[in-house]
Amino acid sequence: MSKTPICESCLATGSLCAGCEARRASGEITEADVAVARKLYELGAQAGFDRAVERGGIIVIFTKEPSAVIGRGGRNVSALNAALGRKIKVVDGNANPHDRIAEILLPAKLLGINKVFKAGGEEYRVRIPKRDMPRLPTNLQVLNGLLTEILGKKTELKVE
Ligand SMILES: [Zn+2]
Repeated sequence: MSKTPICESCLATGSLCAGCEARRASGEITEADVAVARKLYELGAQAGFDRAVERGGIIVIFTKEPSAVIGRGGRNVSALNAALGRKIKVVDGNANPHDRIAEILLPAKLLGINKVFKAGGEEYRVRIPKRDMPRLPTNLQVLNGLLTEILGKKTELKVE
C-alpha cells in the first residue's frame, strides 16, 4: 500500500480515526488530502502522495509517483476532477523546481525563472508569455502563493 497523508484504515471509512482527526484539526492534513486519498483508494489506484493543496479552484497533488496518481491515460485525474469538481494538477516531487512550476502553469507556458534582489532579500520572478494569460489554471494571487510555497521564497508571476 502506498503512503498517503491519512492512515490506511481511514481510506475506506467515512470518518477519521483519532490520530488522523487530530492531524486534520491541527492543519497538518487538509480536507483535500483526505478527499484525494479516499478517491484514489476507491479507484483502486496504488498511488501514494505527500500532500494535496486546494487553492482557487485547483487541487495540486504533490507525489513521488506521478504516473501512478495520474493513471493510465489520465483516468485517475479525470475521476478526481469529476468527483471533486476541481482542476487537478499532479506535481512530481522528485522533479526540479523548474519542471514542478511548468506543470502548475500548464497549459500556459513557462518561459523562465529569474532571481531578483530586493531590499527585503532574494525573490523569484516566474515569466510567462502575455498571450498565455488566459490559459493560466487559476488567478494570479493563487498562483503567486503556490509558486512561493514551491520555491520557498517570495515569487511573482511576470507577464512579458
Ligand atoms: Zn486514520
